[in-house]
Amino acid sequence: MPFAIEENVSLADKNWFRTGGAARYYAAPKNASEFAMALNFAQEKKVDLFLLGEGANILISDEGFPGLIIHPTMTKLTTDHDNGELTAEAGVTIDEMINFSLEHHLCGLEEFAGIPGSVGGAVYINIHYFEFLLSQFLTRATVIKKSDASIHTVSKEWFHFGYDTSSLHTRDYFLLDATFKLTPLPNAVAIAYAKGRRDEIVRHRARRYPTERTCGSFFRNFHPHEVPFQINGKTIVSIAYYLDAIGAKSFPTSGGASVSSKHANMIVTKEGATTNDILTLAQKLKQTVHARFGITPQCECVRLPHNLTDS
Ligand SMILES: Cc1cc2nc3c(=O)[nH]c(=O)nc-3n(C[C@H](O)[C@H](O)[C@H](O)COP(=O)(O)OP(=O)(O)OC[C@H]3O[C@@H](n4cnc5c(N)ncnc54)[C@H](O)[C@@H]3O)c2cc1C
Repeated sequence: MPFAIEENVSLADKNWFRTGGAARYYAAPKNASEFAMALNFAQEKKVDLFLLGEGANILISDEGFPGLIIHPTMTKLTTDHDNGELTAEAGVTIDEMINFSLEHHLCGLEEFAGIPGSVGGAVYINIHYFEFLLSQFLTRATVIKKSDASIHTVSKEWFHFGYDTSSLHTRDYFLLDATFKLTPLPNAVAIAYAKGRRDEIVRHRARRYPTERTCGSFFRNFHPHEVPFQINGKTIVSIAYYLDAIGAKSFPTSGGASVSSKHANMIVTKEGATTNDILTLAQKLKQTVHARFGITPQCECVRLPHNLTDS
């Protein structure tokens, strides 16, 4: 199909909360040259643009987005087994990449099994699960520059990775593909073990977390300097601790939004919910944590537009 930019496209079916309005313009480029065309389009129309992956970490305004949404649909996966490398384009999902790596007898990434999202969104936030960060595996990547659509090969250092962060947060560049250094699996037993670990992590996650209509962790953990007190001699940075302490799981629902019974830091929605319902509930949680502990939870999931606020 020729590359086309659509108008007035609903975003509610393109994010995990299943809420939010429409995008004025919407492009789903299949390769770097279509991506460049989309960037040029936004410049010509003088509208803001936003990269949308699988929408697993995003909260979209009920009013929608008055600019261009770019949703990369580049989905090529390749391996260089001799060097233990795997390259995935931005539109590949995290699980597709993991399954491909194991089918090609490369392991490491299975620690992230079951995390929803695309490679673009995963590199953007440097996904993590327990002690594993995606940046431990990334060696280089290809990015496209927003201002002139030029394409650059960059090293891991370029990303300035941290917990929940990367240089992609400036939104001056967008990810086209990423290359990961993995460990070649020597024999059938090692392959079976790595696949078993992937399956066990997915089972474990399904018990601990809701698996739909949520953006995962809604608030981020505190930084130690944000918590000016200790509890039993410890500085507790886990947001879930404070949300459990205020009884978040039994908070009244706000319209179609409620706190998951599985995890105090995950807001879930039901059919008919609005983004405003989520924001209202988030605001009540924030106020209650602040009233009890004097510290204010900060949102982890990305908001679109960025000035979308719950206060
Ligand atoms: C049930 C559930 C469980 C989760 N568990 C975890 C977990 O264990 N660990 C964890 O780290 N996260 C977790 N998350 C959060 C989420 O899975 C990750 O943040 C994921 O990386 C989001 O990817 P996405 O493609 O959906 O990004 P989106 O939500 O679409 O976008 C997120 C951000 O990435 C940017 N982005 C997307 N593509 C690109 C690109 N190509 N170039 C530049 N920027 C881009 C967007 O502009 C946006 O700012 C969970 C989410 C859910 C719903």
